[in-house]
Amino acid sequence: MDKRVIIIGSGLGGLTCAYILSRNGYRVTLLEQNAQFGGCLQNFTRRGAKFETGMHYIGSMGEGEILHAFFRYLSLLPETRVSPLDRSAYDIISIAGEQFPFANGDEPFVESLARRFPGERRHLQEYIRVINEIATGSPLHSLREPGEMTFLDPAHARQSASEFIDSVITDNLLRQVLAGNLPLYAGVRGRTPLYIHAFVNHFYNAGAYRVIGGSDVISRSLVASIQRHGGETRTGARVVKISCDHDKATGVTLDNGEEISSDYIISNAHPARTLEWLDTPLIRRSYRERVSGLRNSISNFTLYLHFKKDAVPYLNSNLYHYDNPDVWEAGNYDPNAWPVSFLYMHLCSAEGQQYADAAIVMAYMRFEEVERWKGTRVGQRGEEYKAFKQERSERLLNALERQVPGTRANVAHHYASTPLTYLDYTGTEEGSMYGILRDCTEPSQGVVSQRTRVPNLFQVGQNINSHGILGVITGAIITSGEFINVNEIIRQIKKT
Ligand SMILES: Cc1cc2nc3c(=O)[nH]c(=O)nc-3n(C[C@H](O)[C@H](O)[C@H](O)COP(=O)(O)OP(=O)(O)OC[C@H]3O[C@@H](n4cnc5c(N)ncnc54)[C@H](O)[C@@H]3O)c2cc1C
Repeated sequence: MDKRVIIIGSGLGGLTCAYILSRNGYRVTLLEQNAQFGGCLQNFTRRGAKFETGMHYIGSMGEGEILHAFFRYLSLLPETRVSPLDRSAYDIISIAGEQFPFANGDEPFVESLARRFPGERRHLQEYIRVINEIATGSPLHSLREPGEMTFLDPAHARQSASEFIDSVITDNLLRQVLAGNLPLYAGVRGRTPLYIHAFVNHFYNAGAYRVIGGSDVISRSLVASIQRHGGETRTGARVVKISCDHDKATGVTLDNGEEISSDYIISNAHPARTLEWLDTPLIRRSYRERVSGLRNSISNFTLYLHFKKDAVPYLNSNLYHYDNPDVWEAGNYDPNAWPVSFLYMHLCSAEGQQYADAAIVMAYMRFEEVERWKGTRVGQRGEEYKAFKQERSERLLNALERQVPGTRANVAHHYASTPLTYLDYTGTEEGSMYGILRDCTEPSQGVVSQRTRVPNLFQVGQNINSHGILGVITGAIITSGEFINVNEIIRQIKKT
């Protein structure tokens, strides 16, 4: 086979498609605008401490579980080493002055919460049953050959996660606790579809892990494999145009004027950006308007903490804290009262470590708070922006100190990123964490297909299927299924 495929963007979706297609004989060219591959998988190092930016923990990595099978197929094992989070409390939800652990496994999960909410035991069992049914019902999550291209029961896209939780659980505090890790999917009350909540919680409930040494090991390993399969991988290659003739795409133009022709193109960028690069009557105005009008999930402000040596014991759980007992309201904060919630995580630099070198604290932040600096460049945004970052860092550090006393005194250095940083590094609209917002009240509106009206132009990434390591890899399998039968890819995964 000698078919050429250009992939625009080296986020997890672009990398996975590049891996699958190059492994199956396509001539792949992967074009990344940044100096580093990986999009949200990028890491950075300051004064010897390494920080992850957009992939902090993963799930279902036990032998025989779904991500383990995908990682094996993608030749990510054994290089990608993971460290299990505390099985009795991988996530801790802190609300209303109490802490609630999430334990791995169906029964331990139910029992640990039923100890505090004994009257809800049967309801918790029902909650877990439905979550499992939805997640395992997806053929790609259980490696069944889908037959037709149906990957999701539409009923689960029409019901909201909050509506479902409220329907099975009676106690209001427990309802909040069960939604307490909603920053993992930027949940919105009455809008986030049930299937997203189910996929995420089933995925982590099986087992939750940090990637030892940082999640960029995933992108580095995928790039090496793509090159081994004969693919070309380029950084500093920013696409500004997709050229078309009367019935198909013919190639791309880079910002330095270089033109590269191709038989197929896959865009891993936000669909609104992809449309801007296309000037062809093949794309209808109504489609452009729909895609450019889609809402994106909320962004965040992240504080990167570098601890003094051997000062902070390694915390093998993730802490989700809420000041307000209504967790669904976390995104509707008043900027003067910010932060009203945060997620605190230690980073894993070595197996069995006793002390943490580094941690991150993430708090929701709406893009409007930094919009006035849009268009400025990294490192050159001016004094006012620096002061804003500093002031917000102080507030977040103080909020952390109130919940985890003594931490502040052990911080040697700290750095911060805003929604603008994410916008610049991943090209996601408004620095959105998970791309296009899925809305169960308008299920077809928020869905952007991997196919476009240009027959040889496809899309991949968190805006297309769903987000996170599992959502993006399964989405990349669906996009690659436009080239190689999905059943064949599943057979390859099972055989590996
Ligand atoms: C703060 C944060 C925390 C997260 N934590 C987790 C987590 O703990 N676990 C988890 O599973 N998921 C997590 N996620 C989600 C996960 O990281 C993403 O869903 C996933 O990595 C997105 O992959 P993607 O393929 O959509 O590409 P992206 O990561 O969005 O990358 C797109 C790439 O395209 C490139 N690009 C854009 N335009 C151009 C152009 N014109 N020319 C060339 N290249 C271009 C960009 O530079 C970028 O590299 C997190 C996300 C964020 C933001």
